[in-house]
Amino acid sequence: MVSAKPGKTIAKAASGSDAGSWSDAEFRWDDALAELAGASTDVLNLGAVCADRQVALGQGEHVALRWLGRQSERRDVTYHQLSDQSGRVARVLADLGLQPGETVAVLMGRVPELYSAALGIWKAGGIYCPLFAAFGPGPIKARLELGGARILITTDELYARKVAMSRPGLSRLQHVLVVGESFADGCGDFRALVNACLPLSPVATKPDAPAFLHFTSGTTGTPKGVLHPHRAVLAHLVTGRKVFGLSASDVFWCTADPGWVTSTAYGLIAPLVCGATLIADEAELEPRRWYGILHDEKVTAWYTTPTAIRTMMRYGAALARSYRENTLRVAASVGEPLNAEAVLWGQKALGVPFLDTWWQTETGAITIANAPGEGSRSGSMGRPLPGVEAVIMRCEGGTPNRIDAVDGVGELAIRTCWPSMFSGALGEEPRYGECFRDGWYFTGDLVRRDADGFFWFVGRADDMIKCGALQIGPFEVEACLMDHPAVAEIGVVGKPDMLVREVPVAFVSLNPGFEAGDALRAELLSYARQELGAGMAPREIHFVEELPKTNSGKIMRRVLKAKAVGEPEGGDILVSLPPCPGRYDDE
Ligand code: ATP
Ligand code: MG
Repeated sequence: MVSAKPGKTIAKAASGSDAGSWSDAEFRWDDALAELAGASTDVLNLGAVCADRQVALGQGEHVALRWLGRQSERRDVTYHQLSDQSGRVARVLADLGLQPGETVAVLMGRVPELYSAALGIWKAGGIYCPLFAAFGPGPIKARLELGGARILITTDELYARKVAMSRPGLSRLQHVLVVGESFADGCGDFRALVNACLPLSPVATKPDAPAFLHFTSGTTGTPKGVLHPHRAVLAHLVTGRKVFGLSASDVFWCTADPGWVTSTAYGLIAPLVCGATLIADEAELEPRRWYGILHDEKVTAWYTTPTAIRTMMRYGAALARSYRENTLRVAASVGEPLNAEAVLWGQKALGVPFLDTWWQTETGAITIANAPGEGSRSGSMGRPLPGVEAVIMRCEGGTPNRIDAVDGVGELAIRTCWPSMFSGALGEEPRYGECFRDGWYFTGDLVRRDADGFFWFVGRADDMIKCGALQIGPFEVEACLMDHPAVAEIGVVGKPDMLVREVPVAFVSLNPGFEAGDALRAELLSYARQELGAGMAPREIHFVEELPKTNSGKIMRRVLKAKAVGEPEGGDILVSLPPCPGRYDDE
């Protein structure tokens, strides 16, 4: 078991063009715009800068996309091919009457056509709206309706299982283009149409024209439809270079599902705009396969999630070390807090630490992150990227006040307007407006900042546990118990209490080799009291097989809260971890 206390600086620095520190006095977003748009900075098209620009730079024969199929198939797509195919997709969409600013929904797993479809939609001036393929027909129908899509691109199999039954009720949906072998009534053959036409030149979209629409994870409530402009690519270019050091010599792998913004931003745009080769693996999380990909494909930069990291940790460091001969230069995580132990486990097992990065669907790109070496502090979210001004605010009597004191807790706020700032919240205009005050965007996350400027996640504003005079951030309690060797995953929530309003209670899943029972419960409770003090330690510990997760793999505290008070749990839980065959072997 690796034991690590928060606050350690990571020893090994990764090399990358800009790796090491975020400080950059010369930084200007306009330079990124000038680099991508050239002289005419009032035109910026995401599809063109991701593919055609690389061809113009002489990178046409470089591999843009390496697709790995479930059955060990492998296909390379060069920048030239991606440019050509996406131009043809744009032509097909234009022929269907797609108007600039119109939404095209895409329901596909990680198949090669996904990438040409996204770029083609942008080239035609449309809004790319990916949908999570593991959703059932109900959530897909709801999102198709909310997004107002007239055109859907999907696969034959997904259409049959998830859309066909709802189609009669989807009055706005006129065209369905299908990738595959069988074409139901009312569906066009995507590949045949694309092969039969000539590429369309990219539409001259304005940088502020809407480009992609995502739905949030729904961790705290109903998912929101969040819109971003073409201009967001500036943030993907900059963070691709700063956080991952990306250039043409890199092989970059982002494991996010295409339905989430992380996949659009870092599984698609960032590696392409930086001219790297991106890996698209069709299969789902399976640690042995993943280690094999890192090794065989010579991945240099990797972006994944705490859930995936915790799963790999459950399989043990010995398995990871058997793939130790890897080419990884940088590995990073996003989506949930990453405890210090997981950061350092990466160092020990893979030779690079997992650097935590913070952002949300609304910010469109990484805004706060750890840099390799001195620029990191394990257990923290890191420091704001250049061009991002982040502060801590507390609202008293409706007026936001800036908290500059070291370790003062408050809501994370970001100065408007960074390029990937969301430009709208679908159907929720008042809520969109409420996120902004006095030139700041309020993120809804509570954080503190240490003396060196590192931000530390405390919890979501809604998740804070109000225990007497104490405000307890669930993550601090979780991070402490994660250091105990028995704990695989943990969620801490507030349970109503007559005397002190709320008390913290913990739901814990165990690592292989540990048995749930009164003895372990007593040990964990006493460990927490010793480490955190009696006021912050959980009053109850419940052992569970698995924690409830959103479709994007985040622990759902609202479901745990319902469990804690014995209410019905609600139904939007989907993700489950793969069974772990091995013993916990990190001793
Ligand atoms: P919803 O907004 O629908 O409730 P969500 O907030 O989970 O769902 P996302 O936009 O996918 O939807 O997630 C962003 C949130 O995830 C952040 O606001 C933050 O709470 C959490 N998060 C992301 N990265 C980190 C991180 N590195 N550390 C802590 N929390 C993180
Ligand atoms: Mg959110």
